[in-house]
Amino acid sequence: MAQEVRGVIAPGKDEPVRVETIVVPDPGPGEAVVRIQACGVCHTDLHYKQGGINDEFPFLLGHEAAGVVESVGAGVTDVAPGDFVILNWRAVCGQCRACLRGRPWYCFDTHNAEQRMTLTSTGQELSPALGIGAFAEKTLVAAGQCTKVDASVAPQVAGLLGCGVMAGIGAAINTGNVGRGDSVAVIGCGGVGDAAIAGSRLAGAARIIAVDIDDRKLAKAREMGATHTVNSRETDAVEAIRELTGGFGADVVIEAVGRPETYRQAFYARDLAGTVVLVGVPTPEMKLELPLLDVFGRGGALKSSWYGDCLPSRDFPMLIDLHLQGRLDLGAFVTETIQLDEVEKAFERMHEGDVLRSVVVL
Ligand SMILES: [Zn+2]
Ligand SMILES: [Zn+2]
Repeated sequence: MAQEVRGVIAPGKDEPVRVETIVVPDPGPGEAVVRIQACGVCHTDLHYKQGGINDEFPFLLGHEAAGVVESVGAGVTDVAPGDFVILNWRAVCGQCRACLRGRPWYCFDTHNAEQRMTLTSTGQELSPALGIGAFAEKTLVAAGQCTKVDASVAPQVAGLLGCGVMAGIGAAINTGNVGRGDSVAVIGCGGVGDAAIAGSRLAGAARIIAVDIDDRKLAKAREMGATHTVNSRETDAVEAIRELTGGFGADVVIEAVGRPETYRQAFYARDLAGTVVLVGVPTPEMKLELPLLDVFGRGGALKSSWYGDCLPSRDFPMLIDLHLQGRLDLGAFVTETIQLDEVEKAFERMHEGDVLRSVVVL
């Protein structure tokens, strides 16, 4: 039977978010209902509220979540009621040209639940953020969006892997292929940049250079594993990175800002044949101009990282295991835990610079 639960709704462009009662249908074929235990507040949720992603209001916000599967629909075999899971944006299809070539992390035909959750008050259909909608006591997703992990990890830590932290770690270990002894520079030290730093440390990078314009963020980056820091408001980032790498540049430079000027820094701060990874998300009007001869002459790879090129079934359990072994401090990303009705306040705090993640705990 359909259930009524509380969830955080963005009713219209730039309107404050509020807690409302929503209807969660029983799971249909291939779907699952998950009882949410924790969900991080991500910039993408704020972008939804601001109308920056699309205008399919009202949104049910929240997408960095962990919880327990409550029920599953027909044909679901990979997860079962009682499983502790991390939610991901994209259930892979297994049949598109990427999946068929053995590259499911690029799946070009991912899917979410087919049924829609609705507002109790008006019956309006809700658009769940990134196909999840987890600032809610329960949510409906495609079963393939649930990845079972070791249940001994705290939910507020596990949920972070569902988005920003996975994007950053994956930018380093999957897209950038950072390996033992590499030098890495990370430009932009918010949650994703810090996760790229943690991922680079995990992968055995010898030198990890954090670049930001905020000294508080650089101090945090050191805690996450940066061996050197550069304040690019005071110092030229490209020169500083070259100086710290024997005059050559870093093997891998991860751009976690998503702006042409920082991309240009990343492009010139890498060694010959090095790799640039763009994980920061640009806006539609941004343009980049580079001498084509430099693109050719400097060789190497210019890559973009989608969701850290992660494959949830491969990466989530592995990273949770490393966390439980004390080799990856996911807890360091949690600045504060809050209640469901404090999401609006968390959006306001987002720009203060010392909040990596506010996490709603249910
Ligand atoms: Zn996110
Ligand atoms: Zn596919």
